[in-house]
Amino acid sequence: MGLTKLSDYYRPKKLTEAIRLLKENDGYFPIGGGTWLIPYGGPEVRGIVDLSEAGIREIRLEETLMYIGASTTLNDLLTAPETSSHPYGFIRETINSEGSTRLIDSVSTVGGKIALGRGDSSFLAGLTAIDATIILFGKMSEDIKLWDYLNNSELRKENHIISGIEISTPENLHSVIFESISYIRSSPPLISLALYLTLSGNLIDSVRIVFSSIEEKLVRLEEAETMLLGKELDDELIKKVSALAAKTIEPSYDPKGSAEYKKAMAGLLIERALTEINSNRGVS
Ligand SMILES: Cc1cc2nc3c(=O)[nH]c(=O)nc-3n(C[C@H](O)[C@H](O)[C@H](O)COP(=O)(O)OP(=O)(O)OC[C@H]3O[C@@H](n4cnc5c(N)ncnc54)[C@H](O)[C@@H]3O)c2cc1C
Repeated sequence: MGLTKLSDYYRPKKLTEAIRLLKENDGYFPIGGGTWLIPYGGPEVRGIVDLSEAGIREIRLEETLMYIGASTTLNDLLTAPETSSHPYGFIRETINSEGSTRLIDSVSTVGGKIALGRGDSSFLAGLTAIDATIILFGKMSEDIKLWDYLNNSELRKENHIISGIEISTPENLHSVIFESISYIRSSPPLISLALYLTLSGNLIDSVRIVFSSIEEKLVRLEEAETMLLGKELDDELIKKVSALAAKTIEPSYDPKGSAEYKKAMAGLLIERALTEINSNRGVS
């Protein structure tokens, strides 16, 4: 199709100006790196509001709170000292696992990634597992959990700008684990898992289990999370959760791997992650 009706381009210096342009003009879209909007946008795009100079390309770490501005590129995250170690190392791991090129990573942005909300994004799976909060700038300024944003199709259709995300890490955070299976190291995963877990003593205090590359949207295994809550990990529990994962997920058609294979791999990834956590208990 292509951007056959595109006639207007703006690069505002302020978010207030960006949102005004979006609200006052039908067919105007915000743009981050343009790696999706330029090749895949259609005649509905009449104008582009480029957010690259709106002051939201920033990574800030204040004690247990990390802020990432929406115009931050994936490459910024890959090279920032803030993402070099626990608990933020998963950010680099998940971006690297997507098998994108450095060229694409150097322009594609956190805001674009979140707005697209693809179910094959390991990066989004990691952010969902750690319960990132999305900061919206639009009809009204409000914050919303990433998982709720991704599942709120009405909100996502409205004119809004994602201005950034916040990740807060509790003191009792034990693990943020990312596991994936790819045919070859640099290719996008066939399936991947992000798992976040906090412990209170030996008991699981909170846990989030998120798979990518299963369906069009990310898949969260809430039943398995409930099974783990308040329990102490042991081999029997790990086996039960792994079997539940393999039984529950319903992979969409994917020429790269059959549904049966993905179900088996989902069980394996959970088993691997929980076994790693179990063997590291007492060490954070
Ligand atoms: C060759 C190729 C391979 C790709 N592979 C993958 C992949 O493996 N996994 C994957 O997840 N994606 C993939 N993509 C899709 C896409 O390029 C990336 O997800 C990218 O990160 C999007 O970021 P961007 O900044 O370039 O988005 P843009 O193209 O700028 O925007 C994407 C969408 O988000 C909206 N948007 C952008 N910024 C904001 C904001 N701040 N607030 C609100 N809305 C906003 C735009 O209006 C547009 O609708 C691929 C694309 C290409 C071309």
